[in-house]
Amino acid sequence: MPLRLKPTYIVNRVTDINLEELIDENIKGLIFDLDNTLMPPKTCVLPEDIAEWIIKAKKDFQIAILSNNPDKSYVKQAGEQIGCIAFEKAGKPRRKAAIQALRDLDLIPSQVVMVGDRPLTDIWVGHRLGIITILVDPIMKHKEARIIKFLRKMERLFVSSAKKSFTDKK
Ligand SMILES: [Mg+2]
Repeated sequence: MPLRLKPTYIVNRVTDINLEELIDENIKGLIFDLDNTLMPPKTCVLPEDIAEWIIKAKKDFQIAILSNNPDKSYVKQAGEQIGCIAFEKAGKPRRKAAIQALRDLDLIPSQVVMVGDRPLTDIWVGHRLGIITILVDPIMKHKEARIIKFLRKMERLFVSSAKKSFTDKK
């Protein structure tokens, strides 16, 4: 099977996904990876902004979780929190569980988007089924990136003040 890892779209966080655009493209269902896509790993708690976004998304889309996490009770709990079907031990990029998710949602590949943080599992399985894919930044990395952003900002402040003092000396 050819390795195809380039997603259709890339966003920072699931909340950046434009739901209106997906409605216009006749998308009816969203299949999500769980860990680092919807919630930080091992927490089983949706971040507040993502929880609010999911409530909005559920008005127009059917939702499923497709997780490679083997912990059945963990994935089930996440599914209950969101109010959607949830598959643990999905074996992505294998297609079997994804095909089952499509069946359960009663949708065909062209009506669905696959959202995940890992090209080798989430994006690849989407490609293999001809599903539009959206790659998100891992949630934990996103947090790190915010710290880095902050540090860069501090760095720039330092640079600008240094310039100023250099000018002052002139
Ligand atoms: Mg993940």
